[in-house]
Amino acid sequence: MEATTELPPQRLLGRYSYPTSHRVIEIVAVVLFYGFGAVFAWRTVASLVDSLDPATVAVAAIAVLAALIVADFASGLVHALCDNLGSVDTPLVGQKFIRSFREHHTDPLDMTRGDFVRVNADNHLVCLPFLVPAVLWMDVSAHPVLAPFLLALMVFVVLTNQVHKWAHVAEPPAVVRWAQAHKLVLSPEHHKVHHTPPYDSHYCITSGITNPFLSRIGFWPALMRFCRWLGRFVGGSPAAGHSQGPGA
Ligand SMILES: [Zn+2]
Ligand SMILES: [Zn+2]
Repeated sequence: MEATTELPPQRLLGRYSYPTSHRVIEIVAVVLFYGFGAVFAWRTVASLVDSLDPATVAVAAIAVLAALIVADFASGLVHALCDNLGSVDTPLVGQKFIRSFREHHTDPLDMTRGDFVRVNADNHLVCLPFLVPAVLWMDVSAHPVLAPFLLALMVFVVLTNQVHKWAHVAEPPAVVRWAQAHKLVLSPEHHKVHHTPPYDSHYCITSGITNPFLSRIGFWPALMRFCRWLGRFVGGSPAAGHSQGPGA
């Protein structure tokens, strides 16, 4: 899994090779996420510090672990559906979400050439429908479990694509290599299974913590059967790496 130095063209809003309108949406999503996210994080942490006792710390720690499991599972579910259901022509989600997953199986190293906005903006965008209402209407002091869970969940969600990118980078930062070696984030060895025939497992890409359990209970074959059944109604075909030839 070696990165190349071939970069997208330099343009007004950075290095990218897709429509400028998409780039503007991505940048707005990232800015909104960090604006609202800073407020929500401040309120949540302040509320935890206000009522700091062992029980609160234990509950918050459990909420963070639960958030990691939910984020990892959600990453796998979205990934598996985008790899196996519909096509780039599917209305609403085809161009914005399915395309990037399909292209990743055609050229797994392409995402290593993308900048921060291109790689991570979509995940910032999907958090906004949860983050904005939480800031506007949620009393975090009245939700000592839900608030840290939501905060941790959004942190893990926005980290997911970056973590996935690091799993494909030849030489990630030293701290990332340490985290990969300790299974805190997705490791290249773990993720390589997904890019190896028969391409039908290890879809979770936040830390991969849920992959062994999901494989053991046969979750992915069941989901694939569901996708094949639903595919007869919505059309499209699986990612190239899932039906023929190597994806990585
Ligand atoms: Zn995939
Ligand atoms: Zn990958």
